[in-house]
Amino acid sequence: MQYQSTRNKSISITAAQAIKKGLSEEGGLFVPDSIPSVSLDEIAGLKDMNYRERAEFILSKYLTDFTVEELKYCVENAYTKEKFETDNIAPVYKLNDKTYFLELWHGPTCAFKDMALQILPYLLTTSMKKTNENDEVVILVATSGDTGKAALEGFRDVPGTRIVVFYPDNGVSEIQKLQMITQEGDNVSVCAVKGNFDDAQNGVKRIFTDNGYKQMLAANHFKLSSANSINWGRLVPQIVYYFSAYADMLKADEIALGEKINIVVPTGNFGNILASYYAYQMGLPVNKFICASNKNNVLTDFINTGKYDKNRQFHTTISPSMDILISSNLERFLYHLSGRNDSFVAGLMQKLNNEGSYEIPADIKDKMTAIFAAGCTDDDATLAAIRNCSEEYGYVMDTHTAVAKSVYDNYVAETGDKTKTVIASTASPFKFNQSVLIALGGSEAVAGKDEFTLLGELAERSEMKIPQSLASLKTKPRLFESVCEKGEMIEVVNEFLQI
Ligand SMILES: *Cc1c(COP(=O)(O)O)cnc(C)c1O
Repeated sequence: MQYQSTRNKSISITAAQAIKKGLSEEGGLFVPDSIPSVSLDEIAGLKDMNYRERAEFILSKYLTDFTVEELKYCVENAYTKEKFETDNIAPVYKLNDKTYFLELWHGPTCAFKDMALQILPYLLTTSMKKTNENDEVVILVATSGDTGKAALEGFRDVPGTRIVVFYPDNGVSEIQKLQMITQEGDNVSVCAVKGNFDDAQNGVKRIFTDNGYKQMLAANHFKLSSANSINWGRLVPQIVYYFSAYADMLKADEIALGEKINIVVPTGNFGNILASYYAYQMGLPVNKFICASNKNNVLTDFINTGKYDKNRQFHTTISPSMDILISSNLERFLYHLSGRNDSFVAGLMQKLNNEGSYEIPADIKDKMTAIFAAGCTDDDATLAAIRNCSEEYGYVMDTHTAVAKSVYDNYVAETGDKTKTVIASTASPFKFNQSVLIALGGSEAVAGKDEFTLLGELAERSEMKIPQSLASLKTKPRLFESVCEKGEMIEVVNEFLQI
């Protein structure tokens, strides 16, 4: 299988090359040139496999240039019981006869980004070897919180890689900051930047586009790369868990083989939900996808009207990982929906760049709404969803998952759809403990309390265990306390690389 660019399909490269490059030169994203299929018999066969075996099976369909040994190496290093605190890796929780949560947050940073970022470093270093690159990979990340920590954990101590993460001095939560500055590993570095997220991101972008600097790095046998969500190596591992959930439900006799399910995904960059769409194209039986947004509802409007328009107010919400106005992975979806029409996609992306909006023709919109529904919700409804679910079922969700639950409840009220439904649960409630506790106990439940008191309180109320990785933050040594000016980021990288 070869990979082509969404903006120029005459480009044809291997999976290893696509993962190494990340983004195509003309700005397009890499997609497989055909969608592999998985039969119902093969799906039934997944029942008796563990998560690693399921991952190896699905990945082998896409990474056809990887050997069995290479795939095993990647999968077995990424999805360990130690890192995920459960051997199920991505367990399914049954809420009631028709609602199931696919818990994607048992990894080391307590959010679903671990599902991809635990394996990406192995896919990337294997891809480097396969394409005869001997340089060491240097990952640069600017983060507003979650991605930086997940990338640090993923790349820590992975041979042939180094990682430097920049975060805005006053732009991340206390827990997020602690997670990053206590990071262990021989190949990691973390630095605060005086400024906001944009300052940190612009600094990283400047380094990435500085050709003289990249040549200097090359002379020292280093190659820059990013752990960005547009890389195919981040998307493909996400396809696995939708098959895994279906296999678990089959195994538990919750569904019959071939029975269609709904999939609800709290969406920001459109990566997670796109992965479920790939699973469907491969043969996973799906009735409807429900795309859930918070108040930043650009995708809800797009799916309901066919018009994408980012010219709107940006809202800061209690589900911050979905506070996004440009959903970059939508480009891949448009490419597939339009029957791989690269010039059509290039045109839309140019309009998005120039005018901030575009509209798709009615026939393509109809193809989309035949299988996609969408809805949005606000912070109050999100808090209410957490409270109601806890009161009714004793199950406590994080804020992002609660957006999905709230949108799903509205969808059922409107449509009466009784199809069994899997809701992607994207973060541990402990990661967003402040908002979750407000939902459960009102604002007095959090007033004047520090993060660690809040963790304990949430453990009590939810009857859940505090994830070890968060509980241990309190006593971990703070290893990275430096702060740099936004103009000094290159020097920070140089010092770390000792060049
Ligand atoms: C990143 C993230 C999302 C959004 O996922 P996309 O793939 O960007 O759509 C949802 N929830 C949480 C907790 C996240 O970290």
